[in-house]
Amino acid sequence: GSILAGEGLHKTYGRTTALDGADFSVHPGEVVAVMGPSGSGKSTLLHCLAGIVRPDSGSVRYDGRELTTLPDAERSALRRTDFGFVFQFGQLVPELTCLENVALPLRLNGTKRKIAEATAREWLARLEADDIHGKRPGEISGGQGQRVAVARALAGRPRVLFADEPTGALDSLNGERVLTLLTDAARDTSAAVVLVTHEPRVAAYSDREITVRDGRVRESLAGL
Ligand code: ADP
Ligand code: ADP
Repeated sequence: GSILAGEGLHKTYGRTTALDGADFSVHPGEVVAVMGPSGSGKSTLLHCLAGIVRPDSGSVRYDGRELTTLPDAERSALRRTDFGFVFQFGQLVPELTCLENVALPLRLNGTKRKIAEATAREWLARLEADDIHGKRPGEISGGQGQRVAVARALAGRPRVLFADEPTGALDSLNGERVLTLLTDAARDTSAAVVLVTHEPRVAAYSDREITVRDGRVRESLAGL
């Protein structure tokens, strides 16, 4: 069955309706692309599913638990242990090396330094970024930064990976390589991926596409 499912999600900001009864579900190891025009509600949907934004009504079920009514502290803890995040502009910590950045979430989850750093090394190698361990984010390219961000998100072995325009800032060749590595790694580890994008070329890496329009979700017919 699905690992994460949203049902009848509504969210308004003042007089703006961001979500108007959105439904969504994803299975372990499945990559779902969330498409739709700017302002259609994609990011709000992602934030509700990730427990960052509380919807006005509707339910979000993750692994048998209802997220919308879970206390904030428990939702934050769950995000740290079970979810990974990649955004358009890498949120790397500028003072830390790339290796330390990737190891950081593991350290925060209580993993010992040696094990966290060994795991970080493996993920950087997997993302073809093993030559930049000791560099800081200010010393690497945008494409390298995005690889580090993906390595960091995956190193914690998230059960759900949320990616919002993860390659939006990259040229297409780099972007396609990062997408291949990201989706391969997610499928290998049975992580579910919620991939928000407005680019059909990015959505082509998914197993299934949905389109958000006016705060509602419609299934797209893949390949048509
Ligand atoms: P998308 O990701 O598809 O561009 P969003 O989910 O960001 O769409 O936004 C959906 C609608 O909700 C838009 O009209 C947007 O302006 C509005 N919105 C989103 N977040 C906020 C916010 N924090 N405050 C006010 N309006 C918001
Ligand atoms: P808390 O401070 O409540 O413990 P955080 O704010 O550190 O939790 O967020 C936990 C996770 O949620 C982090 O992985 C972070 O990247 C992600 N996150 C936090 N705020 C946002 C946001 N506005 N949009 C997307 N992801 C976010």
